[in-house]
Amino acid sequence: MKYYILFGPPGAGKGTHAGAIAQKYNLKHLSTGELLRAEIAAGTELGLKARDLIAAGNLVPDEIVEGMIENAFDTIKGVDGFLLDGFPRTIAQAEALEQMTAARNDEVTGVISIMIPDAVVHERIAHRAAIEGRADDASDATITHRIETYHAQTEPLIDFYKAKGKYHEVCGYPGSIDDVRERVLSLVEEF
Ligand code: ATP
Ligand code: MG
Repeated sequence: MKYYILFGPPGAGKGTHAGAIAQKYNLKHLSTGELLRAEIAAGTELGLKARDLIAAGNLVPDEIVEGMIENAFDTIKGVDGFLLDGFPRTIAQAEALEQMTAARNDEVTGVISIMIPDAVVHERIAHRAAIEGRADDASDATITHRIETYHAQTEPLIDFYKAKGKYHEVCGYPGSIDDVRERVLSLVEEF
């Protein structure tokens, strides 16, 4: 199985480009953000735990997202692999993923990182707020906090995967959506 990680700051375009990659390589796209929003919408116990943390721009506890990912690995059949979008977001989650893949006699195939500057994160999320109405997109303060959370907790994963020779990056800015999709797809083609 292939285990690709789609990486980048909030608003980098992970969700935008995931579909094209997943379709081309017969991968299941797993977005922890989308899975969590579905739990919140369904009013589950897990959703209730996650709701306020997400709205404030904080991460949810590692065990919650690790459980969702492992459950997906166990139950989803008929694909050639997984495209992880928004997971892992902490070193602890990356280590849990190492164990999950090792337990399946496998390993992370590679990290596809889409990089954009902080100022562009702000611009894009403010724009998306008007379209999607997500609570965690609603205020500048929350967006700023998510960017800080990214730098503090998620950015260290770059060195984690560089040390394993698995980190690959494209520029998510400047360029149109089509331009960036081209960059991402030609990167995956080289794996
Ligand atoms: P993008 O715009 O690139 O898709 P995003 O950061 O705007 O990324 P999501 O990935 O949808 O949005 O995540 C939304 C929120 O869900 C996060 O801010 C966080 O609170 C929670 N979340 C998602 N994935 C994780 C994770 N792996 N660990 C902890 N919390 C997570
Ligand atoms: Mg997303």
